[in-house]
Amino acid sequence: MTFAATVLTLYPEMFPGPLGLSLAGRALSEGVWSLDSVQIRDFATDKHRSVDDTPAGGGAGMVLKPDVLATAIDHARARQPDAPVLAMSPRGAPLTQSRIRALADGPGVTILCGRFEGFDERIFEGRDVEPVSIGDYILSGGEVGALVLLDACIRLLPGVMGAASSGVEESFESGLLEYPHYTRPVDWEGRTIPEVLRSGDHAKIAAWRKQQAETDTRLRRPDLWERHEGARVKPPSGARRRTRDE
Ligand code: SAH
Repeated sequence: MTFAATVLTLYPEMFPGPLGLSLAGRALSEGVWSLDSVQIRDFATDKHRSVDDTPAGGGAGMVLKPDVLATAIDHARARQPDAPVLAMSPRGAPLTQSRIRALADGPGVTILCGRFEGFDERIFEGRDVEPVSIGDYILSGGEVGALVLLDACIRLLPGVMGAASSGVEESFESGLLEYPHYTRPVDWEGRTIPEVLRSGDHAKIAAWRKQQAETDTRLRRPDLWERHEGARVKPPSGARRRTRDE
């Protein structure tokens, strides 16, 4: 089944962009996924084809109009009623690997790309649109965010990645960062590949990798580590763990 992506944007020519190359590009030409990039301005109704207006309450910039967005969304939904409609927004929940995996398991996705100051807030409830963020920084528009989301989904689609196993051990799949990698030359500028990786002892290698993944996650991403540890030690009921004094 083809994973169908629809992107609603003021810059449809930004797509497929980098997703037309490499693994995603091949999968696109093979029909593993499809892409429809739709010009939001085509749904404007006035003679200037305006899509934005000044912010209520004053302030800088322009806001995307809810009536124009709604018509564009209705158009996309009519063609693909089962796909969730997401809007790129720094005010949304940050994307995670598990959310990406759930999206990739579905029929596709419709992505609304913001520009200027973003969307009229009423669109989210009015059209059941879910805001999603790609991280705590501000882009100039949602298009690059949409490319990020789609790239992360597409590589998970069946047949896209070469080795079937290569999706499973990645960073975040187990709630941890992945272990570090090395390749030849064994000695590079006086820095050598860790001895254990050259030992041929698969059990020892697996133990070393697990330990590295844990140490790196603890040091680099204490937020992930805390969640991982919490999930591991917390009873399923969510009851509080007993402290030493109890
Ligand atoms: N005024 C907004 C930012 C607007 S940036 C605010 O401060 O919240 C313009 C557009 O870029 C947004 O509508 C959104 O579509 C996109 N964008 C910016 N940062 C993003 C992020 N971190 N994740 C997803 N989309 C983002």
